[in-house]
Amino acid sequence: MSRVCYLCKKNEAGKPQDITFQYKGFDFTIFKPGLVCEGCEKERFMKLVDEFNKYKNKKLVTYSDGKLFIDWSLYVDTESSWREDTYSADIKNGMTDILEALGILTIESAGNYEVISAGPISLNPRAHIMELYFTHKEDAISYAKLKYANAQYNWEVRQIGEVIKKKEILKN
Ligand SMILES: [Zn+2]
Repeated sequence: MSRVCYLCKKNEAGKPQDITFQYKGFDFTIFKPGLVCEGCEKERFMKLVDEFNKYKNKKLVTYSDGKLFIDWSLYVDTESSWREDTYSADIKNGMTDILEALGILTIESAGNYEVISAGPISLNPRAHIMELYFTHKEDAISYAKLKYANAQYNWEVRQIGEVIKKKEILKN
């Protein structure tokens, strides 16, 4: 009944859903689309981690004392050069996927942090065109300092309060 994974052509692809797993001591949660099986999607993601968590011989993410530390300068450098060639864009997107899978960046705005300039215009990282939010204040501050210290305009870091989505408001 179910569709076969288009990569391995062996396993059932199964439902599109979030999957959680451990790799190299980190807990990752990624979205598995409906066309691939869990095994193939995990494998794809683990390759991403292998490749982009040692870019320029630096570690994007390290884990110590029960906390994740992000090398935001590595991320910001990659982000500023991502338009130069497609490989830089892959690195930037790969690093963003890793930070999302670790729960450092998220598409959920409520309760999370944003770097914002007058307008207001969000200065947060993006996954393609989608704005992402920082789940920890310290990460938003480190990112803002590294990326926007020399900006001519003003900016600030804000925590977003209650968020009521359009579909919730319109459902009644
Ligand atoms: Zn597969």
